[in-house]
Amino acid sequence: MGTARGTHTVPQGAAMPTSTRHAVAAPFAAHDDWRLDARCATEPPDDFFPIGEGPAAQQQARRAKGVCQECPVREQCLEWALAADVRHGVFGGLDEGERMALRMPRPRGGG
Ligand code: SF4
Repeated sequence: MGTARGTHTVPQGAAMPTSTRHAVAAPFAAHDDWRLDARCATEPPDDFFPIGEGPAAQQQARRAKGVCQECPVREQCLEWALAADVRHGVFGGLDEGERMALRMPRPRGGG
């Protein structure tokens, strides 16, 4: 079964200022120019949005995270996903659980 490429989309409902796609040739605002360099633009979008937690989904997430590690705009992407509170998918090299962990308040030491 073939997989469409270049359509790593942002989930509906996520705050997205101009377009629902990563790295497409749409007119982005200046602060969104980083999307034009997104490495995922040529990758299977399903890898970035694995469904479930089984071995196949884990493998997809690993592939997506590998792409992110090579992406020149990983930091911008992660910052965007955190600011937009995106709840599904791999962005900036982290899945939703990893991003949620970053947002959690850290326990204070001592007591
Ligand atoms: S960091 Fe990952 S999800 Fe974000 S633009 Fe790059 S390849 Fe796409």
